[in-house]
Amino acid sequence: MLDVAVIGGGIVGASVAYWLVRHGARVSVIDRQDVGQATAAGAGILPPLDHFIGNPAMLPLLREARRFYPQLLAALAEDGETETGYAVVGALHVATSDADAERLVELRRECEAQRAAGMLHIGELTELEGAAARRYFPLLGGGVVRALHASGAARIDGRRLLSALRRALERRGARWTEASAEPELEAGRVVGIRTPAGVWPAGAVVIAGGAWSSSSAERAGLYVPVRPQRGQLVHLELVGSDTTEWPIVLGFGTHYLLSFAPSRIVAGATREPASGYAAVNTAGGVHGVLEQALQLAPGLARARLLEARVGLRPMSADGLPILGASPLLPNLYVATGHGGYGLEVGPYSGALVADLLLRRPTPLDVGPFAPARFATAYPG
Ligand SMILES: Cc1cc2nc3c(=O)[nH]c(=O)nc-3n(C[C@H](O)[C@H](O)[C@H](O)COP(=O)(O)OP(=O)(O)OC[C@H]3O[C@@H](n4cnc5c(N)ncnc54)[C@H](O)[C@@H]3O)c2cc1C
Repeated sequence: MLDVAVIGGGIVGASVAYWLVRHGARVSVIDRQDVGQATAAGAGILPPLDHFIGNPAMLPLLREARRFYPQLLAALAEDGETETGYAVVGALHVATSDADAERLVELRRECEAQRAAGMLHIGELTELEGAAARRYFPLLGGGVVRALHASGAARIDGRRLLSALRRALERRGARWTEASAEPELEAGRVVGIRTPAGVWPAGAVVIAGGAWSSSSAERAGLYVPVRPQRGQLVHLELVGSDTTEWPIVLGFGTHYLLSFAPSRIVAGATREPASGYAAVNTAGGVHGVLEQALQLAPGLARARLLEARVGLRPMSADGLPILGASPLLPNLYVATGHGGYGLEVGPYSGALVADLLLRRPTPLDVGPFAPARFATAYPG
């Protein structure tokens, strides 16, 4: 029986572990619970189109990741887990200037082309005047002049999805330990992981440590260029309003709004590439998020401030995830680098990496995501 240790219990590590255990492998997940875990902070937008759509290698992965979501939810339901916060609520892509309104026309064309190429999750597209957009999201201000509504966009609650995966895989016999771990090598082979409690033998090891993956890989001589990018967001409560079915609001910058039941609005997010590992909310970060949110939706001024969250997005050097076996050590695998799209793509990446470990054919060519695309020796 394949015996695998997964380093990192964010959405990606938990997904690798879940599909392994469902296929009969023996699995341990070891998670350090770092402050700044991206999964615990992630907003949870499953958008109509992503900003990195320009990278052709991402298109099939995105398409299949979105097709896969219902399969994931069905598998979890089979395991008795139905609380994930997932809902198809649609998205309003809003324009606040005439120039933006023109870009909406282009966006619509791109959405239609991608939908024709198989991105069925985009759903129906409708162009709306500002007043009509406000019927979907009543707090939007007069600054919104036009919007494009995409009916298929969805949201997920990363914390609840992760808890559901963890419960399901533990119930299937996997072990989940809260500790730090690193790959353990002996005579040029990975023999398991080193934890504070000693070395645990394993037939294969997966590094799924999010923004912290590089240092674990470096210990095994593997160059995995992933850096942290801090993201801050704010959770608000709109007392007395039922926001359960409100759509996601996207603009042409990095800021957005999304809603959860019963009255929660999430305003996000900063993108701070120079943050290093400082997973803290800053006055400037929270100010910027609130300022943008209130510009878009002045009606949010009366909302109750619930909490600010912060997470470190695992950004790979070329923007693509890093998935697959180490070119140096055959039983060492990597699953990381999902940047700002890991809640959308990570569950599917987990299933792909589980297939690789189990020597099953993958439903998608994972070649473009292989760790071997980077130099194998750690520089310096
Ligand atoms: C503000 C913000 C908003 C976002 N919004 C979205 C969104 O709307 N849609 C979307 O799809 N994605 C979004 N993302 C991105 C998404 O959250 C991430 O891509 C995804 O959660 C990454 O998952 P992961 O498992 O790779 O990493 P993480 O969730 O960071 O988990 C890594 C885990 O590994 C553990 N670990 C690391 N090293 C070790 C070690 N040596 N030993 C033991 N444990 C270790 C850490 O403690 C951590 O728990 C957002 C991210 C942020 C920060």
